[in-house]
Amino acid sequence: MPEIKTLTVAEFHEALKAQGVSRNEDLAFICPICGTIQDATDLIAAGAGKTFDEVERYLGFSCVGRWTGSGPHKKGTEPGYGCDWTLGGLFALHKLEVVTEDGKCHPRFMPATKEQVQEHVASRWWRHSGRTKPSR
Ligand SMILES: [Zn+2]
Repeated sequence: MPEIKTLTVAEFHEALKAQGVSRNEDLAFICPICGTIQDATDLIAAGAGKTFDEVERYLGFSCVGRWTGSGPHKKGTEPGYGCDWTLGGLFALHKLEVVTEDGKCHPRFMPATKEQVQEHVASRWWRHSGRTKPSR
């Protein structure tokens, strides 16, 4: 079992602010099971909802693979494919809990780093166009 990190709501928001994105839709999280970096834009593209408000409850909580038909994560699958994981399930398997003022712990996906977010946003065009990733 990996160690669980706890953050206060303020610290959690600080971690998101550190991503330096201008739109809420670009705030990115990492699925603890398949390692896929995902944001609200991905959830909207996958059909989880039409707006940020509609997908916010899934953001950092349910893997985008739930809407793309990825199925359960298979060991060895590269991050990016997605899986059917949700923190609302029976088994608590997560790396981060956000503690609210009432002392309750809310599991969340780990926020991505600023570098990961930039890479993620930059790579978006090919993922959603169905084209293959260009070589660098
Ligand atoms: Zn996943």
